[in-house]
Amino acid sequence: MTYNKKSVEDIDVAGKKVLVRCDFNVPVKDGVITDDKRIVGAMKTIEYLVAQGAKVILCSHMGRPHNVLDEKLKLDKKEIKKIEALPAEEQEAAKAAALEKGAKDITKLSLGIVADDLTKKGIPVTLAADVIGPDAQAKAAALKDGEVMLLENVRFHAAEEKNDPEFAKALASLAEIYVNDAFGTAHRAHGSTAGVADYLPAVCGYLIQKEIDVMGKALDDPKRPFVAILGGAKVSDKIGVINNLIEKVDTLIIGGGMAYTFFRALGNPIGTSICEDDKLELALELLAKAKDKGVNFLLPVDNVIAREYKEDATFMRIYSDSIPDGWMGLDIGEKTQELYSKSIAGAGTVVWNGPMGVSEWDNFAGGTRAVAKAVAESGAISIIGGGDSAAAVEQLGYADKMTHISTGGGASLEFLEGLELPGIACLLDK
Ligand code: ADP
Ligand code: MG
Repeated sequence: MTYNKKSVEDIDVAGKKVLVRCDFNVPVKDGVITDDKRIVGAMKTIEYLVAQGAKVILCSHMGRPHNVLDEKLKLDKKEIKKIEALPAEEQEAAKAAALEKGAKDITKLSLGIVADDLTKKGIPVTLAADVIGPDAQAKAAALKDGEVMLLENVRFHAAEEKNDPEFAKALASLAEIYVNDAFGTAHRAHGSTAGVADYLPAVCGYLIQKEIDVMGKALDDPKRPFVAILGGAKVSDKIGVINNLIEKVDTLIIGGGMAYTFFRALGNPIGTSICEDDKLELALELLAKAKDKGVNFLLPVDNVIAREYKEDATFMRIYSDSIPDGWMGLDIGEKTQELYSKSIAGAGTVVWNGPMGVSEWDNFAGGTRAVAKAVAESGAISIIGGGDSAAAVEQLGYADKMTHISTGGGASLEFLEGLELPGIACLLDK
C-alpha cells in the first residue's frame, strides 16, 4: 500500500481550530506515567501547530474504559453475562457495584494525567471535562491562536469504537481541520481515527507521515537485499505478513515459537515446543511459495531448549533435527544467531517483527539480542514493527541505531500485510 498523503505542512492552519488525534494511550501505574514515549512522540506535530498559530484541540483514547459519558452507563457484554449468571436476588447489587466500578474509570482513565505531563513538558494544556459535551464546546470556542486543549478520553463514548457518524460529526464540529497523528490506532475505523475525516479536511501529522514514508518506501522500492525477520509466538499472528513479504523480500528469516510449526510440518521432532497443528499445511504452502519466488527462507539450525516453560528452567542447545521428547524450544541457538547475523549484515533493508525467543527471560533472550545487534550494526535501512520486538530493541539500547521503530504494533502489522489502514486512507491525497 503506497500512501501519498497531505501533512500538516500542506494545509494552512494559522488561526484555525485543528483537531489532532494523538496516541496518548500511555501506561500508568499508581497514578504515574511509566513510559512517556508516546507523549514525547506527539510533541513535534503539536509544537508545529502552536508555532503556526493554530488553535489546537487534542484527543486520544486511553485504555479500555466503560462508556461513562454515554447517556446511560453501559456495561460490557462479558460483565452482563457474569451478572446474569448470579442468583436473581444478587443481581441488583452486583450491577450497582459494576456500574460504580465503571464510574471510577472516569478518574482512572482520564486524560488529565496527559494534560499535566504535556504542561510539564512545556506545552500548557487545558483539559475538557468531556469529549463532545458542553465543556469541550465552550473550551474549544474560547481557544486563542497558539493555545492547546485536550478532550477527555474518546472511549468514554461507546460511539467512538462503533464509528457512529453522529459522534464523529459532533467531534468534527469542534474544529475546522483534522490531523491524524495516531498511527497506533490507524488500523481501526473509529470516530476519532477515521469518522471525523468525513466532515473536515484531513491531513496527517509528523508521526504518521514518517510511518508511511519509511514503511511504504521499504515495501515498494526497497534497497536490496531486502531481509525480513519474523518471530514471535505464533504463525497464525503473522500469516498475512509472511504472505505479503514473501512477494517482496530476498530473504525471510524465521525465529521464535512459530519456527516449530514449520519444523513439525517438515517432519522434524519438536518435543513440547509451541506448535499450531492446524497450520501445518499452511506452513508447507508458505515454504513452497518461498521456493517458487526464489526467496531464501531461513529456519533455525539450532535451538535453546528447556524442560519447562519457566524463566529458570534447565536449558541446553540442540540442533533442529534432534529436539528430544519432553523438551521445548524457547530460543534460537548460537549457530543460528551467527547464520542470521551474517545474512542481516549484508542487507540493504531489514524489516523485523517478533522476537527470536522468549526474550522476556534472560536465558532465552540471546537470539533476540544477537539479531538486534546485527540489525543495529548492519547499516541497512531498518524498520522494527511489533510491540515486543520494539520493546526488546529499546531495552537493549539499540533504538537510536534503527531507521524506524514503528509506534503501532497492530497497525504496523497490518501495514506490512499490505492492508489498507482506514485512519490513513481517509486523509487527503497530495
Ligand atoms: P511482537 O509484539 O514484536 O509482534 P509477538 O507478540 O508476535 O511479537 O511475539 C512475542 C511473544 O512471543 C513473546 O511473548 C515471546 O515470549 C513469545 N515467544 C517467542 N518465542 C517463543 C517460543 N519459542 N516459545 C514460546 N513463546 C515464544
Ligand atoms: Mg506482541
